[in-house]
Amino acid sequence: MTIAPLMPVYPRCDVRPVRGEGAYLWGERGEKYLDFASGIAVNILGHAHPKLVKTIADQAATLMHVSNLYGAPLQEQLAEKLVASTFADTVFFTNSGTEAVECAIKVARRYHYANGEPHRHHIVTFANAFHGRTLGAISATNQPKMRDGYEPLLPGFETVAFNDLEAADRASDRPDAAGFMVETVQGEGGVTPATQEFMTGLRKLCDERGLLLILDEVQCGYARTGAFFAHEHYGVSPDIMAVAKGIGGGFPLGACLATEEAAKGMVAGTHGSTYGGNALAMAVGLTIFEEVVNEPFLANVRRMGDRLRQTLEQLIPNHDHLFDSVRGKGLMLGLKLKPTAEARAFVAHLRDNHGLLTVSAGENVVRVMPPLNIEDSHIAEFAEKLSAGARDYPVGDAA
Ligand SMILES: *Cc1c(COP(=O)(O)O)cnc(C)c1O
Repeated sequence: MTIAPLMPVYPRCDVRPVRGEGAYLWGERGEKYLDFASGIAVNILGHAHPKLVKTIADQAATLMHVSNLYGAPLQEQLAEKLVASTFADTVFFTNSGTEAVECAIKVARRYHYANGEPHRHHIVTFANAFHGRTLGAISATNQPKMRDGYEPLLPGFETVAFNDLEAADRASDRPDAAGFMVETVQGEGGVTPATQEFMTGLRKLCDERGLLLILDEVQCGYARTGAFFAHEHYGVSPDIMAVAKGIGGGFPLGACLATEEAAKGMVAGTHGSTYGGNALAMAVGLTIFEEVVNEPFLANVRRMGDRLRQTLEQLIPNHDHLFDSVRGKGLMLGLKLKPTAEARAFVAHLRDNHGLLTVSAGENVVRVMPPLNIEDSHIAEFAEKLSAGARDYPVGDAA
């Protein structure tokens, strides 16, 4: 047998983390890394945060899981907090981002069904989006590497160009249109924020045509951009929103949020999850919420985001053979490289030769997503490692 016991679906690198603390990780051989990847925007309070560790230990010793057949006081507490601080009136808890997206699609279909218009199932999505790996979520993207070999996919999706309001208008001008699903800031696609015109325009089209605006804020939500959710920067509210990653700070947790109107089809028996909303996940969610959803914390994310962005911008002229531009919001930043370099190879160079963890994204972008509670010293250390990495990176040799 030649297949590895671990199904080889990830091209894993040689870093094998075994321990973390704050913004640092240690590998199997004891080597240390500055972690500006954060498990891809997940570990928003860094590694081994003392409050999170204590929450998990205490809750595990109290109650970890019961069926959703029973009343769920901790789910109610977290749902009430989310409802009180967002557009939403109601919340369904999941274990991952893709399940939150799946729930969002189901809520949208049930909404039109409940309105007596079950034919309205056409959801317009956007190029280079990433919504997760379930069949529903891959049906909502146009990326062959995720879709090939999985056909037949779920019908009812059409992909048009991101930030192209005219294309969105045309694609949704049909009797079976159900809504739009869009990342407020595309993550995997290359750290690309939606434009103001696009967000305002989508909302307007939804209001005019009875469509639902579904936001996927799995990556850009939960304080990452310096607002609780990224759509707050635009003054535009969704009808349904998928959330995960930061919401659990490293513990598997996701949520689908919706307005009362959008969720009108979600009655008893229409959806469910065995693990979703388990007591351990809820205890973690409550601790993360308490730490993160307050103005001082969010203001600090904006301040650190500005500093990190300035740091990156100042480095560009010194390394303009390699660095092109900076994009993103808050602490969800992307460093676009010149075509002479390849983001994936540069990320590997920073990791292997400078102990700095980042993540590559589409459009030749290096994603920079540190824990949200970093300090100035981490930014200084990041800048040193990045410029050292840029100095000794063999341009033209993307090996
Ligand atoms: C990561 C991600 C998902 C999928 O989340 P999983 O927890 O991996 O299922 C969905 N949408 C976006 C925007 C993401 O970044």
